[in-house]
Amino acid sequence: MDLLYRSTRSKDGAVKASQAILKGLADDGGLFVPEAVPRLDKSLEELSAMTYQETAYEVMKLFFTDFTEAELKDCINRAYDEKFDTEVIAPLVEADGTYYLELFHGATIAFKDMALSILPHLLTTSAKKNDVQNEIVILTATSGDTGKAALAGFADVKGTRIIVFYPKNGVSPIQEKQMVTQKGENTFVVGITGNFDDAQTGVKQLFGDRELADIMDKAGFQFSSANSINIGRLVPQIVYYVYAYAQLLKESKVERDEKINVVVPTGNFGNILAAYFAKNMGVPIAKLICASNENKVLYDFFETGIYDRNRDFVLTSSPSMDILISSNLERLIYLTAGADADKNAAFMSELSTAGKYEITADMRAQMKDFYGNYASEQETAEMIRTLYEKTGYVIDTHTAVAAAVCRKYRKETDDNTKVVLASTASPFKFTRSVMDAIDEKYDTMGDFELVDELSKLANVKVPGAIEEIRTAPVLHDTVCGKEEMKSVVMKFLGI
Ligand SMILES: *Cc1c(COP(=O)(O)O)cnc(C)c1O
Repeated sequence: MDLLYRSTRSKDGAVKASQAILKGLADDGGLFVPEAVPRLDKSLEELSAMTYQETAYEVMKLFFTDFTEAELKDCINRAYDEKFDTEVIAPLVEADGTYYLELFHGATIAFKDMALSILPHLLTTSAKKNDVQNEIVILTATSGDTGKAALAGFADVKGTRIIVFYPKNGVSPIQEKQMVTQKGENTFVVGITGNFDDAQTGVKQLFGDRELADIMDKAGFQFSSANSINIGRLVPQIVYYVYAYAQLLKESKVERDEKINVVVPTGNFGNILAAYFAKNMGVPIAKLICASNENKVLYDFFETGIYDRNRDFVLTSSPSMDILISSNLERLIYLTAGADADKNAAFMSELSTAGKYEITADMRAQMKDFYGNYASEQETAEMIRTLYEKTGYVIDTHTAVAAAVCRKYRKETDDNTKVVLASTASPFKFTRSVMDAIDEKYDTMGDFELVDELSKLANVKVPGAIEEIRTAPVLHDTVCGKEEMKSVVMKFLGI
């Protein structure tokens, strides 16, 4: 029997995994959720003898039940190959008593690669399985990292085109350079004069535009999403939590069944939701520690049970977490509301009209394994500097938000449970903020000078992804207002 996926906003219309992957978002605007979270059918000891790719198969086969073994293994092997600069794909590095799970060894040196290197293959396989003839148009809003990772994943993949919208003044210089130098006939990158939420709202509107969908269908196109709302992104992210625990077990860093805490620098709530799914699959995880930057909507939510986006949007040094509407939280809301689509839909409608909602005491009780906190800009910079001074290990700004929150949590609770901390980007991706945090003297250096300095200081080779963009020509220079997104899309598609 296939595992089916339902929308978080209505009871009808359960679909198979491949259909949920193809659609991205359900027709009613809801997110697809599996009817039940499957339990791992291999023991953690068995898993600890497996490679990353083998572990990926063990996890994904339980979720993507309408894929054949050959299809799934083919997707996995195409994704997790030499694009990653280490065979282990997601290494664990111990520094100052914390296990940093380095998720940035893929093509674009941020954790989005973990899912976006496989999504194009899951998507094209899903299209074949469902006899889709249309060309698939990936439409994505990015706060910086998704964009490049999606572009890299989809560039020149037959039967697909990709359009990425990013906030023109809301990403790091390296992030922007990475995107606007993207090669590939089927790629299109657009800066918008607004913030990430504007980009994401605009993209959601285009997805919901029935008139546009008709015009596109007649011209042989259909939209799909590479954003973290796609279940084809969420599931591959569960893999590395399973893998991380299995590695700790293999290296006798934890005893059998010993619980660990997981700390995740959070924006759209996708990564930490994957950890929650891993826990529900049977990985011994105690606390799920949700770390925010100064856009601390989630911290306030876990403190009060009220989600309130009515506040100023802060531009921080961890731009991939500058988010006021964490889309994936909807899945947790739905699940803790007892998989009640009506109840969830009511909350989401309050969110879109009043900008806030309050969950029930019962739902809050079901979220007791989550702990939220945040780090200020100053605390984030201090974390980078002190960890470097103590250990020589250099972390990026997003990872530092998580590390600073982890430190707060330990101080507040005296909980000394071992910690796996999701290290979501290479420090080379946020070189300026990282180097500024370490020493003011770097302030006057150019971006690539800083890259070389960082390489010396951290004793780490400059990643290929950075070398590549040093001299690459700018290939995309379109900028538009948020109200122009639809016409820009139509123009690119020639419709
Ligand atoms: C996207 C991103 C995050 C946030 O992940 P979510 O799944 O959106 O919560 C954190 N750090 C980096 C570097 C990212 O690119």
